[in-house]
Amino acid sequence: EHMGKDIPPKEIKLSPDCELRFEVENSNETVYLELKSGIAEIFGTELVKGKTYTFTTGAKIAVFTWQGCELIVRTKKDTSYIAKETPMMFYLNCHCCLEQLRQKAEDNDTKGPITVIVGPSDVGKSTLSKILLNYAVRMGDSSRRPIFVDLDVGQGHISIPGTIGAMIVERPASVYDGFPQIAPLVYHYGYPGVQQNPKLYDDIVTQMADLVHQRMESSKKVKSSGVIINTIGWVKARGYQHLTHVVQAFKVDIILVLDQERLFNELVRDMPSFVKVALLPKSGGVVERSQTTRAEARNCRVREYFYGTPSNQLHPHMFDVKFSDVKIYQISSPTQADFAPIGTKTDNYVVKLLPEQKMTKILHHILSVSHASSDEEKVNATNIAGFVCVTKVDVDRQLLTLLSPQPKPLPNTILIISDIQFVDNR
Ligand code: ADP
Repeated sequence: EHMGKDIPPKEIKLSPDCELRFEVENSNETVYLELKSGIAEIFGTELVKGKTYTFTTGAKIAVFTWQGCELIVRTKKDTSYIAKETPMMFYLNCHCCLEQLRQKAEDNDTKGPITVIVGPSDVGKSTLSKILLNYAVRMGDSSRRPIFVDLDVGQGHISIPGTIGAMIVERPASVYDGFPQIAPLVYHYGYPGVQQNPKLYDDIVTQMADLVHQRMESSKKVKSSGVIINTIGWVKARGYQHLTHVVQAFKVDIILVLDQERLFNELVRDMPSFVKVALLPKSGGVVERSQTTRAEARNCRVREYFYGTPSNQLHPHMFDVKFSDVKIYQISSPTQADFAPIGTKTDNYVVKLLPEQKMTKILHHILSVSHASSDEEKVNATNIAGFVCVTKVDVDRQLLTLLSPQPKPLPNTILIISDIQFVDNR
């Protein structure tokens, strides 16, 4: 590739503690970025000097420097700007406090800090998680192995939307593809919002919390490194109850509240005194996303699951399975739960097998491939091996056509329907 060498370069000098921000909005636009001298990072990931980084549609980027640096930017339509005011010093202070607690935990063979990041949507929660995790694995001689937990079912940073995930972070995130994944733990939820099946959400959060605490015991390093939890942006009413449930289930020590003073005060009032609550400013660079942008981002995540990213392309498989060869389960939300007498309000959900005559309902739906070893095992209570997408339902021949990251056969025949849909238009 020409790496934008035909576009005239623009040299940008960044002073210490400043960041260059840009967004790639149009689909035919590309921004090429190179670090010429000095040290710079993108959300905590250090840039390699002389390497050309390519950013395409949807990228919302800040190149920050503690020491000062020179950058070369090539783009047809330059919309980048330099920000002198950033909250990075606050975030670094947070990291230093966490580092002290991790050191103490390592010395005493206890658990490191369990931190949750909360706040309304579009305040940079995911970005702060990334920065803190990157700093933890990057800095100091005894680099840490923290566990990253993502409870944001709307985007799904570890897996795909409609799931929650956890993984041990061993290396910094790639500028494009996030953290390298080593055996992530993923639970099926099935909806892009918590309000769609609140009881199921709380249940899988509890399960995940128990497993995360177990995993912490697996190695001294992981144990003392602690946990960073990213959450949903719903902080009012029932959303607040979900947050306090997260705090209890994970036995959270530290709550970092981004941007919202009201939420901060509520948590200070309601949390037991051994839970530390801190208020942090949001970055002026965080880009607000509309419902459409969010839906597009979700679709993009699912596409990436099957087809990969420009820097890491994948080649999915397509194959048929007989209706009778799979068991497809449906976890109905409370509103669909037909067992409830009319007029009663219930939170509960039902797990049931999808009858063969209803197979056409799941066209274009994502199905989670369960790890459950038998039908007796509760399908909502086991983690997920991967996902397939139903691209065709042939009622006459009793066949489903599936898009799958792996060739036939499926690793397990127990599948769970997700409300998330994906239309494969390749
Ligand atoms: P939240 O998790 O609170 O919804 P995110 O962390 O996902 O918010 O941030 C929203 C978007 O803003 C992301 O696309 C992210 O890349 C972008 N972003 C975050 N911080 C900055 C910044 N300092 N400059 C430019 N873009 C940013």
